[in-house]
Amino acid sequence: MTPALSFAERVLQWFDAHGRHDLPWQQPRSAYRVWVSEIMLQQTQVATVVPYFARFMARFPDVQTLACAPLDEVLAHWSGLGYYARARNLHACAKVVTETLNGAFPRTIDGCMALPGIGRSTAGAIVSQAFDLPAPILDGNVRRVLARHAALHGWPGTPAVSQAFWALAEARLPTHRHADYTQALMDLGATCCTARRPQCLSCPVQHDCLARQHGSIDHLPTPKPRRTRPRRRAQILIIENEAGDILLARRPQRGLWGGLWSPPVIDAEQCWPAALDALPRRDHAPLAPIAHRFTHFDLQMDPVRLLGTSPPDTDHIWHTPSGALTLGLPAPIRRMIEQLVAHPATPQA
Ligand code: SF4
Repeated sequence: MTPALSFAERVLQWFDAHGRHDLPWQQPRSAYRVWVSEIMLQQTQVATVVPYFARFMARFPDVQTLACAPLDEVLAHWSGLGYYARARNLHACAKVVTETLNGAFPRTIDGCMALPGIGRSTAGAIVSQAFDLPAPILDGNVRRVLARHAALHGWPGTPAVSQAFWALAEARLPTHRHADYTQALMDLGATCCTARRPQCLSCPVQHDCLARQHGSIDHLPTPKPRRTRPRRRAQILIIENEAGDILLARRPQRGLWGGLWSPPVIDAEQCWPAALDALPRRDHAPLAPIAHRFTHFDLQMDPVRLLGTSPPDTDHIWHTPSGALTLGLPAPIRRMIEQLVAHPATPQA
């Protein structure tokens, strides 16, 4: 039996009763706040994002403030959220919006996608949520709902499947309440059509859900084809001076941890620099190795603790370990420096 109400109308009714209406970026809902929240929510859970968003808004309440702030400070407010290219793009985008668009975000998908770091789904979220205009989104939660409801198979990383998903998302758009519909679909995916054990009996679109009828819920959405993850190793040089300061360097803007601060790192395939042979080792106070999972590989870093004197060049600075924690640091480096603060080396070592 075909349900009397459209897909979108049923989802909106469900949203009125069960959706999330008190997320910090909904009150007030502006293009700037929607944009920052959408960038933070890429690869990150809502519960993790909420306190970061609050701190970010307290320091950078509007796009002009963000554009004028030093990148270092933006990275420091992002520290721990990971995927730091997002923060660099956020800063670059704020500059473009302020300097060339008079501080106003474009009201079209193409206009938003022309800005740094804004993809099609984020553009859809901004246009629909900030301006209440029809624009589809396809984040992970929404893709899961649509894939299951329409029994759309195939990994969306391929162009043909991606096109099919966008066409489906477009076809399901309502004729009104575009901002609410976007939030409703995200909420439905996050709280009802969950990856494991979806609550189908509470779902507003259960009666025409094809995955439910076909018994294919557990197979949708189609996962990315598996590849073995490469493993890399590196040594991280904890060089301390007599005062207990540690040597830090800013990472190159491009590449791993771009623009953040870190002790020097030597990849396993790199030669051990001869200049370091002269520095005494502090083997009595070992630090635990750090394992970190990146998008495309796993990295194990073995800390090597050395006693140093002067920085080898101007790209390096000395910093107290506790002071270093105020800088923009990658999450695993932050954990390691917290170990150092808890277990300082003895001065005579
Ligand atoms: S019926 Fe179940 S599988 Fe289908 S959309 Fe609803 S929650 Fe997801």
